[in-house]
Amino acid sequence: MDFDLTDEQQLIKQTAREFTDKEIVVQSRENARNHHFDLEIVKKLADQGYLGAIVPSEYGGAGLDYVSYGLVVEEIGRGCSSVRTVVSVQTSLVCSGILRWGTEEQKHKYLPKLCSGEWLGCFGLTEPDTGSDAANQKTRARKTDSGWVINGAKMWISMGNYAKVAMIFAQTDPSLGYKGLGCFLVDTDQDGYKPAPIEHKMGLHASDTASIALEDVEVSEDALLGTIGDGFKIAMSSLDSGRYSVAAGCVGICQGCVEESVKYSKEREQFGKPIASFQLVQAMIADMVLKTDASRMLTWRAGWLKDKGRSNTLETSIAKLHSTEAAVECANTAIQIHGGAGYVDDHPVERYFRDVRVTTLYEGTSQIQKLIIGRAMTGINALVPA
Ligand SMILES: Cc1cc2nc3c(=O)[nH]c(=O)nc-3n(C[C@H](O)[C@H](O)[C@H](O)COP(=O)(O)OP(=O)(O)OC[C@H]3O[C@@H](n4cnc5c(N)ncnc54)[C@H](O)[C@@H]3O)c2cc1C
Repeated sequence: MDFDLTDEQQLIKQTAREFTDKEIVVQSRENARNHHFDLEIVKKLADQGYLGAIVPSEYGGAGLDYVSYGLVVEEIGRGCSSVRTVVSVQTSLVCSGILRWGTEEQKHKYLPKLCSGEWLGCFGLTEPDTGSDAANQKTRARKTDSGWVINGAKMWISMGNYAKVAMIFAQTDPSLGYKGLGCFLVDTDQDGYKPAPIEHKMGLHASDTASIALEDVEVSEDALLGTIGDGFKIAMSSLDSGRYSVAAGCVGICQGCVEESVKYSKEREQFGKPIASFQLVQAMIADMVLKTDASRMLTWRAGWLKDKGRSNTLETSIAKLHSTEAAVECANTAIQIHGGAGYVDDHPVERYFRDVRVTTLYEGTSQIQKLIIGRAMTGINALVPA
């Protein structure tokens, strides 16, 4: 067993850390305050090779292994979860789906533009009435002579207002259940694609989130990713990559909570001493370190399995479940250590606390992760409709 990162991985992590501090952290408070989706940072992410980092170079990507990709996402997650969401959605949900399921023509058409940041992508699975029960898509795709016409609605779609290409999941034949699902690569410039910003979120203020109306959206036959019937498998395989990315981002939040708390507790004095000298404060730091380390190890294991090409749905769910719940707890504890100062955005822990809350919800709630783990242990699938 080897817990050492290679020299190259250490360099990738160090580079991502410096990039995050120089380009992301300096902007994160203002962007959150102004609810600003920062396209300049998106461009810098692309120039750095962080959009589509796991995509092979022949399609314009950086060709990183999954462990290295996780290290990059951890650092960006430490800096700002809104920016990390761009990386996760573009790389894991969109690029990995096209890479795994696309034809050569589709890969060459989409991946270079997504990796270069010329185009943003979004992943349209969730609907107003369809969340955890993702197979129960209400959006419909009807066959025409030249392709398909899509009607329906999507909800909570990250980058839905900015994406040039949207992966839209739709039912082609309700009598087939999940076997009737298709995934379509929709050009969002069409009139029938109608996104609207979702306002007043608790956190991720610098991230774009959309509801999308789909009204007679026409797509050609070659916009179909995989075949009809692959839609559910495409969604799940993209989520395997997406959940890994969320887990890595949450390791970053945990790490940020530790670093900020150590720094603050050594500066802040009460009873004539730094609060770091109080055993109860050290206990809070120790709790956070424990959660951070465990989350990181679980995330590395999931990445290592992906790099070996071994099945990893179970291990990815374990990493996602643990890291997201740990990050919620660490953000809460970090605010406790900061006292009243943690309740305003002078310190990043306030933003960590608001931004982290969604991570136990999106890309499969914690309950859904537990049911995936329970299914693997018992052989009984609790995720089947009544
Ligand atoms: C900021 C943000 C960004 C998002 N980005 C995207 C995106 O880019 N693309 C996309 O497709 N979606 C996105 N989502 C949607 C997200 O993935 C869903 O919110 C999530 O899957 C949960 O679905 P839901 O909100 O409908 O909750 P529901 O499915 O209605 O769940 C509500 C509660 O019931 C529980 N529950 C449901 N079913 C079961 C069960 N069988 N057993 C036990 N408990 C159960 C859940 O765990 C949860 O606690 C985003 C959401 C947010 C908030």
